[in-house]
Amino acid sequence: MVLQDLGKRLNTAINSLTQQSAIDEQALDAVLKSVCAALLESDVNVLLVKRLRDKVKGKVLPQLEEIQAKQGQDADAMQGNKAKQIIQKAIYDELVALVDPGDAAPPAFNPVKGKTQVIMMVGLQGAGKTTTCTKLATHYQRRGLKVALVCADTFRAGAFDQLKQNATKAKVPFFGSYTETDPVSISLQGVTKFRSERFDVIIVDTSGRHRQESELFDEMRQIQDAVEPDMVVLVLDGAIGQAAEAQSRAFKEASNFGAIIVTKLDGHAKGGGAISAVAATNTPIIFIGTGEHLHDLEKFSPQPFISKMLGMGDMQGLVERAQEMALANPERQEKMMKKLEKGEFTVRDLKDQGPLSNLASMIPGMSEMMGGGGEEDVSRRMKRVAFIFDSMTTEELDSDGSLFRDSVPSAKGKEKEKEETTEKDPSNPMGLKEPNKRVLRVARGSGTSVQEVEELLAQHQMFAKMAKRMGGKNGLMGKLAARG
Ligand code: GDP
Repeated sequence: MVLQDLGKRLNTAINSLTQQSAIDEQALDAVLKSVCAALLESDVNVLLVKRLRDKVKGKVLPQLEEIQAKQGQDADAMQGNKAKQIIQKAIYDELVALVDPGDAAPPAFNPVKGKTQVIMMVGLQGAGKTTTCTKLATHYQRRGLKVALVCADTFRAGAFDQLKQNATKAKVPFFGSYTETDPVSISLQGVTKFRSERFDVIIVDTSGRHRQESELFDEMRQIQDAVEPDMVVLVLDGAIGQAAEAQSRAFKEASNFGAIIVTKLDGHAKGGGAISAVAATNTPIIFIGTGEHLHDLEKFSPQPFISKMLGMGDMQGLVERAQEMALANPERQEKMMKKLEKGEFTVRDLKDQGPLSNLASMIPGMSEMMGGGGEEDVSRRMKRVAFIFDSMTTEELDSDGSLFRDSVPSAKGKEKEKEETTEKDPSNPMGLKEPNKRVLRVARGSGTSVQEVEELLAQHQMFAKMAKRMGGKNGLMGKLAARG
């Protein structure tokens, strides 16, 4: 999960308002103090944090005064809620501004079938360049494009092997050499070969280290002159925090890259600092790296990023995922899109979405329900989820899930109700509601617990609700369809 700790802390700070009785300048200061502390700890530059605080105060205080003047006229509680919302909205907006590179437009890089485009990747060794090359290749491949990788790193022994291994795993054609020592020659050979084979996207991985920095930058410029890339991308390690600013400036002078990918935003404490520092230099971030695996690459845009970090969900991401799946399996997905347009989402649709962990962070509140945890935990839970689906009948899978909520009165139901008024059921001392019979059957059949089945069904409900909201002409799906 991206910047999980920062997101949690910001969330707690913002939500602490809900417990406050009086919303005044003091309450605002207290929230801002926690928000700023969380940002500073994530290595966001002090000046940027101060600017955020001043802007929120500047926006909120006049509105608070207005509300205070009204207090006593309207119901106080209503005014209090309004004040909370104003503060929450102002903080949200300023967090978005903090990671927004402003007018800096990302390079017009929209690879399409039938027209070769070359991406050159630069960055210091260890930043995650080679890993990101393969992730990017996979990203474009999933969109139905023909992608190839070229290894131009002749400086580091083993660089070609690493790229080869990654590329093989991702089933991406690659080019490199164990004997050729001139990176310019290799990159040109590779790019020429794949151009003649009509690849749509060619990604060139360059070296990240040299005896001297000037040599590294010279080599970068020579490769750039030789292969004439359509886009140069700087790969930056998110763990370096606000030092990202100096590094991006140095590379900018040497290679004039067009966009940045910030890596290692999963779990690294300084990620917030890196992203805000890059945004402050008005450089577009196009993707972020969120893990060591092939699919851990996410498109970056400020608003969804902040929403997701704060656990508010990411509709856009969900739609993109659906579109990606459309390319992988057009028939099934066309059906899915049609259903989503109508606002339908069955239990089987949830099953077909594949690993829920990727989707979890896109749904408000869901990543917490998934319980976070390490990779092993997640994969163990995924297996249990598969068992649960396998224990459902066709009728249940194709339903909207309400079957599992209908209360089917048990034979003893009525009697029990009567008993409960006089004495407690010893097997159920808390007087908990009896689970739905289908839920009970599925839990038994899959060797899981009632709670697990109910959690999965609750997740289905959340998706179904989102599908409803997204559906129809005025929903997100309708708008996207209209856009084409
Ligand atoms: P390069 O020297 O720039 O080519 O860097 P590599 O691609 O070899 O990556 C260096 C290390 O960072 C490897 O162990 C990668 O698995 C790891 N890495 C790369 N991207 C990410 C990411 O987004 N998250 C995490 N957690 N690790 C990453």
